[in-house]
Amino acid sequence: MSSGTLFFGTGPWATFDDDHEGPRGGKLLAEVRERSPFAVFCEGGRIAATGDLATLRARHRGALEVDLGARTVVPGFVDPHTHPVFAGSREDEFEWRNTGRTYQEIAREGGGIRKSVRQLRAASDADLVANLRATADAFLALGTTTIEAKSGYGLSPEDELRSLRAVREVAATHPLGIVPTFLGAHEFPDEYRDDREGYVRLLVEEMLPRVVAEGLATACDVFCEEGVFDVGQSRRILKRARELGLAVKIHADEITSCGGAELAAEVGALSADHLVHVSTNGMQDLLQSGVVPILLPATSFVLRLARDAPAKAMMDLGLPVAIATDFNPGSSPTRSMPLVMTFACVRYGLTAAQALTAATVNAAHAIGAGNRIGRLKPGFEADLIALDLPNVRHLPYRFGENFVAVVVKAGEIVVDRRR
Ligand SMILES: [Zn+2]
Repeated sequence: MSSGTLFFGTGPWATFDDDHEGPRGGKLLAEVRERSPFAVFCEGGRIAATGDLATLRARHRGALEVDLGARTVVPGFVDPHTHPVFAGSREDEFEWRNTGRTYQEIAREGGGIRKSVRQLRAASDADLVANLRATADAFLALGTTTIEAKSGYGLSPEDELRSLRAVREVAATHPLGIVPTFLGAHEFPDEYRDDREGYVRLLVEEMLPRVVAEGLATACDVFCEEGVFDVGQSRRILKRARELGLAVKIHADEITSCGGAELAAEVGALSADHLVHVSTNGMQDLLQSGVVPILLPATSFVLRLARDAPAKAMMDLGLPVAIATDFNPGSSPTRSMPLVMTFACVRYGLTAAQALTAATVNAAHAIGAGNRIGRLKPGFEADLIALDLPNVRHLPYRFGENFVAVVVKAGEIVVDRRR
């Protein structure tokens, strides 16, 4: 008698013909193969086998059987860049930007990240956990089975630790996969605006060691940008994080070209994110150092940025681009990876297959989890979604609705909207 679950259907499922294990750039970015029918046997939270239904059925007679019908099956989305720990909202800034003010003007006047910092500091631990739990539900309902979650609206030792403890609590009790990142270097808090060196010292000497001592994060990120953390400050923070055993990531070249991509390569970052103004040298450096570029097209859309990240140039160079929501209360309040896929196709010229690879395999590598999530392959975590769509190309094309019918996380059905 065998246990486990056998998911099957007549529709197509997304896989690859090759055995390439790393992030997928160049031709590999586009080479998604849609096969049908679909049959996957899962056991112990992992995919144990894919293949022919009759064979799998014969081999696993006691398995629970789940018929996904004619739906399209793809790996659960991996969202490799989110800021989900916050309180309150910033719809006023959304309107101000739309009626003519810039992100930087709003930030200078105390809005933006600094407003979210005031809101988070006033919120209780219970509120942070409740908000994050609701957010985790929303991610799952939209087909995302793993997110990277950054702190960064606390900006004091206690409030950053509180943020990461909220992430730990939700991660331990919610089916959504959550990979935590410390982003104490998101902005300078008001009390350190005239002592920036003092805040960098606080990050390096107190906050990072405490985050590591409590085991609250697997990576450290920095907002490297004109007016925020310069390249020198970012380098000190990221090098200290690496010494302490954390992986590193960078918000790089979003609003100006300031050498963020080059720094990402120098410090061996997992990912360099945004890259709207990345230099040609910066792109070469990313390629040579194996840094995954994460593009955040929803943010560019909401901020009404005049230019797009040079995604075409990155893809031509062979970079394994990933995409993310950048979910946050200011510049990207969406949790929808399908919507981000649509933006990536329309604004950056990706095909549906490229966008799917960017939202799954490459996104998983961008958070250091490419060997366990993001693919429908034996040995990988059984994270898959069934869509009320006839094929993968409909996914970015039919934007604005949720076509996710079933979400399976670690072999368990966690969302079921089958009619
Ligand atoms: Zn961000």
